[in-house]
Amino acid sequence: MTCVYTSNDIYTFVLRAYDIIATNKDYLTNLDAAIGDADHGINMERGFKLAVERIKNIDPNTADVGTILLTVANAMLETVGGAAGPLYGMFFMNMSTVSSGKKSIDLNSLVVMLEQGLKGIQDIGGGTQPGEKTMVDTLYPFVIELKSQLDKSSDCKKVLEDALKSAEKGMMETINMVAKKGRASYLGERSIGHQDPGATSMYLILKVLVDIMNSKTQ
Ligand code: ADP
Ligand code: MG
Repeated sequence: MTCVYTSNDIYTFVLRAYDIIATNKDYLTNLDAAIGDADHGINMERGFKLAVERIKNIDPNTADVGTILLTVANAMLETVGGAAGPLYGMFFMNMSTVSSGKKSIDLNSLVVMLEQGLKGIQDIGGGTQPGEKTMVDTLYPFVIELKSQLDKSSDCKKVLEDALKSAEKGMMETINMVAKKGRASYLGERSIGHQDPGATSMYLILKVLVDIMNSKTQ
């Protein structure tokens, strides 16, 4: 079995990412209220809303994956503001560069895309590493697990599920971390005990990606 994301799947991913972010808007904002400035859900909902408006002008039957993701990147960069705008902007921008001209993405290509997306976040974030209580704590283990499971298993849906479990674990581990980056770092030790909002939005986005593959019959 091979798992492949087509342009249509990536188009659906953007629509469903908006839905899950909108559904969790207050949850994300409340997480940010505890260790930041109570705007993460509002920021993310605004960005994905514009992305969805703009991709309506794209035909997923003819567009390449890179074009769809570039639309998301630009929407994030233009409207989200704060830390998350440039961070998610570069995440989607780098993923779009690697997928430019491609109408389907296998899981090996997905790993390369996510590695570049992660690098974009780390570059913009000032060299963000796992353990600093950010979105990297969710994305990094997802990429590492995806890569290592792909070498061992041919069950690609299970590979994605395992990667998502690692991402969820990483998200939960932010609760006990001291924030070293972004606004939450001003709190120092007082940031302990709270789940990071960016790690949570990243988990929701990765979950949508995995769910889309699970709902395909291939
Ligand atoms: P702001 O902090 O400007 O209000 P948001 O609330 O939208 O922006 O986003 C905050 C999230 O951004 C944090 O929860 C964290 O996951 C992420 N973040 C902040 N700074 C960094 C960084 N330097 N590297 C990676 N992620 C970061
Ligand atoms: Mg905030």
